[in-house]
Amino acid sequence: MSRTPFVVGNWKMNMTKRSALDLADGISRGAPKGVQVGVAPPFVYIDAVVGELAGTAVAVGAQDCYFEKSGAFTGEVSVEMLKDVGASFCLTGHSERRHVLHESPDLIGRKAHAVYDGGLTVIHCVGEKLDERDAGQTLTVVENQLDELDPKRIDDPNRLVIAYEPVWAIGTGRTATPEFAEEAHGFIKSLLDRPVIYGGSVKPENAGDLLSQPSIDGALVGGASLEPDSFAAICSAASTS
Ligand code: PEP
Repeated sequence: MSRTPFVVGNWKMNMTKRSALDLADGISRGAPKGVQVGVAPPFVYIDAVVGELAGTAVAVGAQDCYFEKSGAFTGEVSVEMLKDVGASFCLTGHSERRHVLHESPDLIGRKAHAVYDGGLTVIHCVGEKLDERDAGQTLTVVENQLDELDPKRIDDPNRLVIAYEPVWAIGTGRTATPEFAEEAHGFIKSLLDRPVIYGGSVKPENAGDLLSQPSIDGALVGGASLEPDSFAAICSAASTS
């Protein structure tokens, strides 16, 4: 891992306002030097978490957004709104948005470009389902999901990060072997020279082996990011890899 590692906590639909602020505080205290740390709270807590983390190096982002700037889109949140409350990045294409909320590749692509065009960093998530992995289709699936982005329209290399997250490893306790993840990361980098972070049941126990792979530039962490000590241990593993 040669770039500054980037470790992001995806809090999903968890927390109360109080517990979100406590978690943010715990994470900022445990964040080691030499690692870019980010957290993605639920929409309604972003503003408060930005305030809690003011003056720290921890970035705050969103788990989702809508691609339109404003208007009659009941329930949606625009990139402008995220910027207004101090978010600096946004996930797009997370597997739960793809496969639980059934977002289409077209919608995901529009969201990713809206995030980029709005001035935030895009963390674009890609990864295959279990049946696709078993059919040997991992790289084809990943390539198709990267095609949701038009690289010609993303010319700032600092504002696009890819997260490789095999769906079968997210929230399941099953992790890709470091070798399997490394192969996928190497493939992604051969298509797009951007940082590629790994997600899928990353925990303090497996973080060191994953993050020491040359093509793994950090981690996107779900479950283990809800506990400050676990998240800090993953960040420390990134800092020493
Ligand atoms: C995720 O939410 O992107 C994720 C990887 O979750 P978990 O770490 O719980 O598998």
